[in-house]
Amino acid sequence: MSEPTIGVLALQGDVREHLAALEASGARGIGIRRPTELDAVDGVIIPGGESTTMSTLLSVFDLLEPLRARLKDGLPAYGSCAGMILLATEILDTRPDAQHLDGLDITVRRNAFGRQVDSFETDLDFAGIAGDPVRAVFIRAPWVERVGPAVEVLATVPQGPAEGRVVAVRQANVMATSFHPEVTGDRRVHRLFVDLVRSV
Ligand code: GLN
Repeated sequence: MSEPTIGVLALQGDVREHLAALEASGARGIGIRRPTELDAVDGVIIPGGESTTMSTLLSVFDLLEPLRARLKDGLPAYGSCAGMILLATEILDTRPDAQHLDGLDITVRRNAFGRQVDSFETDLDFAGIAGDPVRAVFIRAPWVERVGPAVEVLATVPQGPAEGRVVAVRQANVMATSFHPEVTGDRRVHRLFVDLVRSV
């Protein structure tokens, strides 16, 4: 698979930025709004946005069960921010009716960084990405409060009040970051995901 086709869930959120990052990373990116479109992809990205809104729209667009089924089947997936929340098995501080896709055995806390540090940027080391640290942009981001035994931690917050908090993880074919690499122009996180999709 030289140029994999990767779908970006296009119900809400920063879809365009992910499509651009995919195109710059050696993949073909397509927006997904229908279950049939999901059939055609080698991997999927769940963008940042608002997880409870995306959760509602997944049901409205009849995508919730098809997406769960494909993830269970091993479809590679990458979620940023709200996408990380949706991929989790457990979500803290959300609405009682919020759905989750159970692609990662993690517990996430929504809007975890609090009002003081709602949105911030930092440089961090990211397992599997060599060279300069990765610039991480956090926008009302979640953090990971529990990781299951099969989950690898890829990055933590290096300093400050949230030092040590887990903000990037991987379990088998599923990756997630609390932050938004699609907005910085650094394509290394997307390239890592494209390589993962190619390797499956
Ligand atoms: N706070 C948002 C949520 O709960 C996530 C923010 C984001 O994706 N930038 O879904």
